[in-house]
Amino acid sequence: MSRPEPVNDPNPRLRDHREPIIEFICRPCDRHSSFECKLLAKAFGASMTFAVIRQRLAMGCERMQTPGGDKCGAHFPCLAEGPDGS
Ligand SMILES: [Zn+2]
Repeated sequence: MSRPEPVNDPNPRLRDHREPIIEFICRPCDRHSSFECKLLAKAFGASMTFAVIRQRLAMGCERMQTPGGDKCGAHFPCLAEGPDGS
């Protein structure tokens, strides 16, 4: 490894997640699904950040790309609080 990982990485990564299942919720879109972490790791790589995975999973959400920016409420409830603060 030539590039050491920064210790204070503000972005949680897939490999940091302990549970085998991760939930994904978008309340404005009435979307609620759960994913197996190992499948996500296979699809995206274990070092992928949840921020990027969120974008990928929320793709097709029409609130994701508005003139006013990202209005999608998609988040992983088991991580820190989502965009809607709950
Ligand atoms: Zn959404």
